[in-house]
Amino acid sequence: MKTSPWGSMTGVRPVKNVRTMLARGISPQTAAERLAAEFRVSGEKAALAVEIAIRERDLVKHITPQDICLYIGIPFCVTRCLYCSFVTAESGTSARLIAPFLSALRKEIRGVGELLKHRNLNVAALYIGGGTPTVLSEKDLTTLIKQCKITFGLENLSEFTVEAGRPDTIDGGKLDALKDGGVTRISVNPQSMNDATLRAVGRRHTAQDVRDAVALARQKGFDNINMDIIAGLPYETELDFLRTLQEVETLSPESVTVHTLSVKRGSRLREVLGEFALTDGGGVRAMTEAASAFLPKRGKKPYYLYRQKNTLGNLENVGYAKAGRESLYNVLMMEELSTVISLGGGGVTKVIHAETGKIRRAFNVKEPKAYIERLDEMLERKRLIFQYL
Ligand code: SF4
Repeated sequence: MKTSPWGSMTGVRPVKNVRTMLARGISPQTAAERLAAEFRVSGEKAALAVEIAIRERDLVKHITPQDICLYIGIPFCVTRCLYCSFVTAESGTSARLIAPFLSALRKEIRGVGELLKHRNLNVAALYIGGGTPTVLSEKDLTTLIKQCKITFGLENLSEFTVEAGRPDTIDGGKLDALKDGGVTRISVNPQSMNDATLRAVGRRHTAQDVRDAVALARQKGFDNINMDIIAGLPYETELDFLRTLQEVETLSPESVTVHTLSVKRGSRLREVLGEFALTDGGGVRAMTEAASAFLPKRGKKPYYLYRQKNTLGNLENVGYAKAGRESLYNVLMMEELSTVISLGGGGVTKVIHAETGKIRRAFNVKEPKAYIERLDEMLERKRLIFQYL
């Protein structure tokens, strides 16, 4: 019988369990032993969860109940990746939707701004994700950031991330717009540095585009760059993955997020699964183990972790970062340590009650057309749960 490295733990946030134990005064060693005894978590995963829980505790120690995060989802991408389950619209064929989407988003920002007025909250982290926000024009990015500043203040922002995931959406003008707008962290995501794999998974860029985009971002002054990679992509061997790891490291990103391929419902990969020989659990485990051995040697420690359904080998996704370059948003959002208000396509608003810790959720629809049509309904959902702020 195959055993999962996470034993009987099924949730998205295994680290939360450990954090709760540590907060109750349980020692790290006992917490690891309990994961092994109660959930049959492997020694390696228990140690990883404890290490991350301790690091997270330090990262969020200055956070107060007044601190919240904002998320803005831009649900457009240049093409759709094979493994994507997000109902993202291809920006070429859906170009006509971008202007009405942005107009609806402006309305949502104004509406949320009104709802948050006089509540004495502080936006600690702003994250513009997607999709690929950098499919937007330089002008649209500038306008969006300006409106966020006018509406939400953002004077005490600790971190402002924009996902510039597809390198082929990045140019000097857009990077200038992000830098001038106060963006502190960007994510340039190769997923693989193997051109054949990039073609196979439907990404329209090459490994060289990634190198060029990172070089341009450095030239424009970005000193906190994350890069996402995926273990277990179709046709990739452990050697291919190792090459990607090493190639990515030659670009010296401040953080690397190692995902494990997940065969998600709604993805094209799920539909055409029979056409691909996916890496087996042992193979993908060797890849993630290689990453967890390699990245700390390059000064990057694991600082956040989450799990998804249908992941190869029942493994996890781990963010590794240099000290001081961890994403505060990732930790606060993933561990549900602060209220997160989500605007735009997709994303979940989670209001955490300061005294009870109870979480209330409101969902934004993902698909741009539905977002435009159902905006008032989503604003109303937010109004209802904001009374618990
Ligand atoms: S870049 Fe991300 S959101 Fe866009 S299609 Fe690929 S996986 Fe989906």
